[in-house]
Amino acid sequence: MLTGKIAVVTGAGRGIGREIALTLAAHGATVVVNYNGSGAAAQAVAEEIAAKGGKAEAIRCDVSDFAACEAFAKQVLEKYKRIDILVNNAGVTRDNIIMRMTEADYDQVLDTNLKGAFHMIRHFSRSFLKQKSGKIINISSVSGVAGNAGQSNYSASKAGLIGLTKSVARELASRNVQVNAVAPGFIDTDMTRKMTEEAREKLCGQIPMGKIGTTRQIADAVLFLAGGGSDYITGQVLCVDGGMCM
Ligand code: NAP
Repeated sequence: MLTGKIAVVTGAGRGIGREIALTLAAHGATVVVNYNGSGAAAQAVAEEIAAKGGKAEAIRCDVSDFAACEAFAKQVLEKYKRIDILVNNAGVTRDNIIMRMTEADYDQVLDTNLKGAFHMIRHFSRSFLKQKSGKIINISSVSGVAGNAGQSNYSASKAGLIGLTKSVARELASRNVQVNAVAPGFIDTDMTRKMTEEAREKLCGQIPMGKIGTTRQIADAVLFLAGGGSDYITGQVLCVDGGMCM
């Protein structure tokens, strides 16, 4: 159980982040539901948690903005006095082949997916260090582990997240803070619903288990890494991908 724990989940108004927020709250954590553009959806997540007897609030912050993340962390720590679980889930795609990749699309993906996680860890790290306990979980991707044609920006950001995870895991290990990554495979959300039916079918053919994953399956992996069962696990990448990256 996560009773009494304070959790922050970035990009939690929709998709995988939403499911993670609902799951952590269902296991007793008080959840800060971060969002950027999806204010009404994030508010609805907080209300759904409250309706089930849990505690949550929605707070806006663009994770790609260093100063905004600093203000966000200050606001959270002033109210809750601590942070136990930080899930860096916010992410975007701007796919294109390398020859046509624009600098703006490259920068936006790196700024959100990689620097966003850096900003949050940076601004919450003092608190984690002082507490001498905590869990940081970064949502990477199989694209960051194996690469993916048409996603050089996204794959670089997700591989970068793995390097960030391992380095911060080493820095915080002696203070009893575990830092791990989850690398989802192909999961049914808005991000993947953009694909054509043909492309989805082709992709399923590359998954040993032959099917797309669910947000619940990612949230269950995050729940494990957020709880006491993972106390001796740090710097790891847990692929939740139906066997794509074995
Ligand atoms: P999604 O449905 O497109 O949702 C993306 C989330 O990221 C939204 O909640 C969005 O919030 C948030 N976000 C984007 N930019 C943000 C910013 N600047 N500041 C704060 N939040 C921001 O995507 P998803 O499929 O749930 O993906 C969640 C994570 O899993 C991402 O990191 C993604 O790369 C990773 N992942 C997904 C898959 C998959 O197959 N779906 C596979 C591997 C990895 P707003 O709507 O409020 O802006």
